[in-house]
Amino acid sequence: VIRPLPGTLLEAGALCLIKDFEKRPSVTHLLDHPFIKGTQGKVLFLQKQLAKVLHDQKRLNPVAKTRHERMHTRRPCQVEDADKSCLEGDLVNLEVLDEDTVIYWLQKRYADALIYTYVGDILIALNPFQTLSIYSPQFSRLYHGVKRDSNPPHIFASADNAYQCLVTSSKDQCIVISGESGSGKTESTHLIVQHLTFLGKANNQTLRQKILQVNSLVEAFGNACTAINDNSSRFGKYLEMMFTPTGAVMGARISEYLLEKSRVIKQAAGEKNFHIFYYIYAGLYHQKKLSEFRLPEEKPPRYIASAGTERVMQDITSKESYRRQFEAIQHCFRIIGFTNKEVHSVYRILAGILNIGNIEFAAISSQHQTDKSEVPNAEALKNAACVLCISPEELQEALTSHCVVTRGETIVRANTVDRAADVRDAMSKALYARLFSWMVNRINILLQPDKNICRVEDRMNVGILDIFGFEDFQRNSFEQLCINIANEQIQYYFNQHVFALEQMEYQNEGIDAVLVQYEDNRPLLDMFLQKPLGLLALLDEESRFPQATDQTLVDKFEDNLRCKFFWRPKGVELCFGIQHYAGPVLYDASGVLEKNRDTLPADVVVVLRTSENKLLQQLFSIPLTKTDTLEMIRHPEETTNMKRQTMASYFRYSLMDLLSKMVVGQPHFVRCIKPNDDRKALQFSQDRVLAQLRSTGILETVSIRRQGYSHRILFEDFVKRSDSVFLKYYHVEQLNLLLREVIGRVVMLQAYTKGWLGARRYKRARQKRQKAATAIQS
Ligand code: ATP
Ligand code: MG
Repeated sequence: VIRPLPGTLLEAGALCLIKDFEKRPSVTHLLDHPFIKGTQGKVLFLQKQLAKVLHDQKRLNPVAKTRHERMHTRRPCQVEDADKSCLEGDLVNLEVLDEDTVIYWLQKRYADALIYTYVGDILIALNPFQTLSIYSPQFSRLYHGVKRDSNPPHIFASADNAYQCLVTSSKDQCIVISGESGSGKTESTHLIVQHLTFLGKANNQTLRQKILQVNSLVEAFGNACTAINDNSSRFGKYLEMMFTPTGAVMGARISEYLLEKSRVIKQAAGEKNFHIFYYIYAGLYHQKKLSEFRLPEEKPPRYIASAGTERVMQDITSKESYRRQFEAIQHCFRIIGFTNKEVHSVYRILAGILNIGNIEFAAISSQHQTDKSEVPNAEALKNAACVLCISPEELQEALTSHCVVTRGETIVRANTVDRAADVRDAMSKALYARLFSWMVNRINILLQPDKNICRVEDRMNVGILDIFGFEDFQRNSFEQLCINIANEQIQYYFNQHVFALEQMEYQNEGIDAVLVQYEDNRPLLDMFLQKPLGLLALLDEESRFPQATDQTLVDKFEDNLRCKFFWRPKGVELCFGIQHYAGPVLYDASGVLEKNRDTLPADVVVVLRTSENKLLQQLFSIPLTKTDTLEMIRHPEETTNMKRQTMASYFRYSLMDLLSKMVVGQPHFVRCIKPNDDRKALQFSQDRVLAQLRSTGILETVSIRRQGYSHRILFEDFVKRSDSVFLKYYHVEQLNLLLREVIGRVVMLQAYTKGWLGARRYKRARQKRQKAATAIQS
């Protein structure tokens, strides 16, 4: 009697058998059926037998050839058989595995608002572009410590799985969320945090509230509207939630990476500055406090007026959303525990940045000194100095001149108009980046776990990675290059875990699995990160030459990067192309050298340190975090020293830091997919989805997960975890049967039995068991 569990291969096989029997109701035929033969006491061979039956069936009933045909003709019968299991949401159950079939099911599910689908243990999340009612407390309760197949696929199930692994194995977990810009990574992070706080029995309401507010606050400062996404993350975020050994949430910590600070001073056409600038300007406008922060009332500051003065002003004065967001941010600050004084200082620094942006420069028109500059709008300079609590004269001097130390003598040189404008912008960027780091660091202090609850060494983490997604704009610059290299690294991490390590594991366990071919992006990563001839190293080298230009940089790339991933398009001088895992991207090299050098003159640092605003003083005095220590190294007093750290080396350091955090945890993957570029609900572009499936290797993932074993547990852990009585008394064969009852999944059963019977550790466990049995008997 076969009583297969729904969704298993066993069930699929049984269905085939029944279909066959219906066609030809003969008992002899039935007994001869390979499925029956294969299962007689030989559970280990069941999968192979099933594969054979299914393969034969597939040959007899070839499916429609093209995707078009497939969408418009009735599905052939064996795909109908898979209907049930597939609608339960695991692509691993698909009998026919090709791009068309995967797309078919994803589209079918999406049309029914089923946005989540599994590929083994990996979750695919299609962006619904609409509010769904599947994240309520009822759903939280539904996905609480239950077997994965008991409920439809869901982001809560992934959070629950990570949480269960954390509690049962006492190991750190790491949820990696990846996908293109606008695919839903940040939303998924919110949902995971929401569910983890629920699972982590955050009885302490204050802590729960604090953790839930963190994302909103950090995103107000680190997210912005881009051409692709209205709430695009412009920084990478690794959020670690900390738990006690019993699984109670006790705190959180954020690590931030690579904030796109150039956005503060300039935004591409159709894009905006960081959200917080609009919130604060609108909030202060409605509270009639603009004059207190020396912000102009009739015209928005230049840094936030990229969409046109009138339009921005209209948005700010008429739209309620900005004002409400400002109130929400104030609420977040309060809940998390920032003092009023701190919040006030933060607002002053933000207003200071907006005022700095309004400072203009003009050449002094004297006969001999054409390269000197002055500030024609002294009012803006005064406003900036006033809110930042520094002297306007010293500020002007720091902007319009610089000190050079030659042979022990300090000489003051005038800045040209262009140089003065660069110094002004560098100052704004540095202020914002340091303010952001300070805020994250402060949040970490306010959310750090109580030492009395649990010892540091007993704490366990679930880390959630949400970085900026892969980008390909009309014009791509240094920022896109860094973002895409980071995504390249995450893809490599995915490949390593899903393919390379997995296949190595099979080999070690002596399981004969067919090797799955996948697109290894290691050579491309090497092209970027290798020393001394990788792209970033070349960029650093060129940045050290004062005479270098963007043209010499691109020439250098061309001379040294001789591989298929790099090319130079004809007829476009400062452009170079890179073949990324997600597609080809053309980069514009203009300004890249300067962005990489990222200089902040010492004169500016000195002036800012004299501020009466304690927070501002702090930002430019002591290192705040490890990353900030590096920032301080990057901004030393000696500006003439060209051997300073560059953005590229800082980027490389950040990437390594992130990876070192990720590798300690057991990974769980969520792949976000953007179903269309119009951000429309229920619109499914097959080509766009297919491109994303291809570039991220989803199809290969289905294949490896199907022939492989999506769950594994060490024998020792299993002994510890389960009711060890039966392990002490039962024979292996009986154990197998028991496992079938307990676990109920043939695929897993095979992994366990094969792994155990073949591996040395089984022997050890058997000895242990015998010892225990003797002890009990005696
Ligand atoms: P980026 O890389 O640019 O930061 P992202 O992958 O983080 O992009 P999100 O900001 O999470 O993308 O999502 C973009 C938009 O898609 C959201 O603002 C929201 O409108 C919508 N969205 C994403 N996921 C969901 C969801 N589960 N339910 C409802 N809407 C969603
Ligand atoms: Mg995001």
